[in-house]
Amino acid sequence: SGEYEGLVALVTGGASGIGAAVAAELASRGAQVAALDLDPAGVPDGVLGLKADVTNDESVRQAVDQVIATWGRLDVVVNNAGIGAQGTVSDNSDEQWHQVYDVNVVGAVRVSRAALPHLRKSPAAAIVNVASVAATAGLPQRALYSATKGALQSLTMAMAADHVREGIRVNCVNPGTAETPWVQRLLDSAPDPQAERAALDARQPHGRLVTAQEVALAVAYLGGPNSGSTVGAALAVDGGMAGL
Ligand code: NAD
Repeated sequence: SGEYEGLVALVTGGASGIGAAVAAELASRGAQVAALDLDPAGVPDGVLGLKADVTNDESVRQAVDQVIATWGRLDVVVNNAGIGAQGTVSDNSDEQWHQVYDVNVVGAVRVSRAALPHLRKSPAAAIVNVASVAATAGLPQRALYSATKGALQSLTMAMAADHVREGIRVNCVNPGTAETPWVQRLLDSAPDPQAERAALDARQPHGRLVTAQEVALAVAYLGGPNSGSTVGAALAVDGGMAGL
């Protein structure tokens, strides 16, 4: 459907995995889409790649300025750029905590801050944050990553309250383990990738990995006009993992 016709969307981390699927999905629904990424080589066809770093405020501002220079408006922001971290609190240094928090949480803050003046002018403004099942599931060996995603979900709810009366809806999706280059890298580093993949599938309550496209469909719903009364929600796309 063309529910994004006439709208402009910015997707961070839009050159790979979930972000690339989101960028392609929004474009297929009629949006003009820019994908902000450290390495924009992988942005889908028809999507404007912007090389930028969400940990650098000036770089983020320049990317948003370029969206405005290109299309004159910004309606939908998808804060998807993120990095992983493994281990317990004994394993990660202060430096790692700051680094991962800076990408996964403050990155979304910087992009939102630069976008808000433009979103306020949009009749269809929405921010969708890509958090994770890790926000609430209590996963082992994911202390730092989980804390950043929990913070992103809390940020989503606080921003939803701050901006709903300005006509800006803020929501998040919480994907379970999804089939992306990120997860493929983890599998490839295992001694037996095929056995690891089977074990990973078996750990999902619904018996398989989530697809990037399933996450993209949820993001497209939350970012678009069909979810007009959904504010501050966390939509699980995790095969049941968070609730079971
Ligand atoms: P991915 O590694 O395939 O893609 C992430 C993209 O973000 C890459 O293109 C990377 O270049 C970009 N990026 C990283 N740091 C950046 C920065 N500082 N500035 C700009 N761009 C940056 O990962 P993915 O699996 O598609 O994950 C996307 C999001 O979904 C992440 O926030 C991740 O935490 C979340 N998520 C993923 C899964 C999963 O299982 N794959 C599950 C739950 C949540």
